[in-house]
Amino acid sequence: METKPKPVMIYVFDRDRRFVHIVLESKNTPGTMAGIGSVFQRLGIVMLNGFAAGERSGKTLWSIFAEANAKVEDLEDAFRSLPTVEDVTVREGVNGLLVDSQHFPVVMEGGERLVIMRQSMLTDMFGRAKNIFGSGGDVILYVQGEEYGRRAAETWAALLGEKFVREHPNEALQTLSAAGWARIELLAFDLDGRRIVVRLHDNFECLGRKSGGPYSNFVRGYLCGMAQALMPNVAVQCKETVCVAAGGEYCEFETSEEGAKRTGLNPF
Ligand SMILES: [Zn+2]
Repeated sequence: METKPKPVMIYVFDRDRRFVHIVLESKNTPGTMAGIGSVFQRLGIVMLNGFAAGERSGKTLWSIFAEANAKVEDLEDAFRSLPTVEDVTVREGVNGLLVDSQHFPVVMEGGERLVIMRQSMLTDMFGRAKNIFGSGGDVILYVQGEEYGRRAAETWAALLGEKFVREHPNEALQTLSAAGWARIELLAFDLDGRRIVVRLHDNFECLGRKSGGPYSNFVRGYLCGMAQALMPNVAVQCKETVCVAAGGEYCEFETSEEGAKRTGLNPF
């Protein structure tokens, strides 16, 4: 399936342009969007990025990065005059730089907090652990991924029920795509046969890396931790059978049952 990038509002910068950040709280009623649109049209505001979050309290939070020439006070007055808008704050950038200082924390559904990092810097951090500690660095990344995957599986099971996760594993896995880790294809899901096969396109951990063999440890650990949580009575191992860092078109991971029950941390 073709996907489109999901721009996240952190900052915008262009020395030659004037950016504003418009944050509105409105009643969650039909017609509010049309009212906001009419102010955009009247004051010549051009939208760059934004979101609208309907809250269970019956309100909607609107947050918009935009380009505009109107004064901050005029923008605030115009939005405040809309009957369903209850609160308005407009903040102007400084010399072409506008940073989102109006929202914290970053959360997803359910209010759970997220931390956003740059992919290149995160994978450089991973690379440094490998460079300094060698195979020890690989183990550290693997067990961190395994912990993350196990916790993710438990969270899904608590939210949706284990039955749902077993019957619709692809839906849970697609959250990795929504969070920017990779585009995911679930190729096999056979818990009785201990075999789960997952293909990752543009896997953040391996993309842009060069390696003589499979490169992933964190994501491999994640998938193994998740698989282990789904198959608690067997020792699961997870191999990366194709890797983009080693010249493959994608990264592919496959689980199987270990020959012997694990007695401790034995990620390989
Ligand atoms: Zn890989």
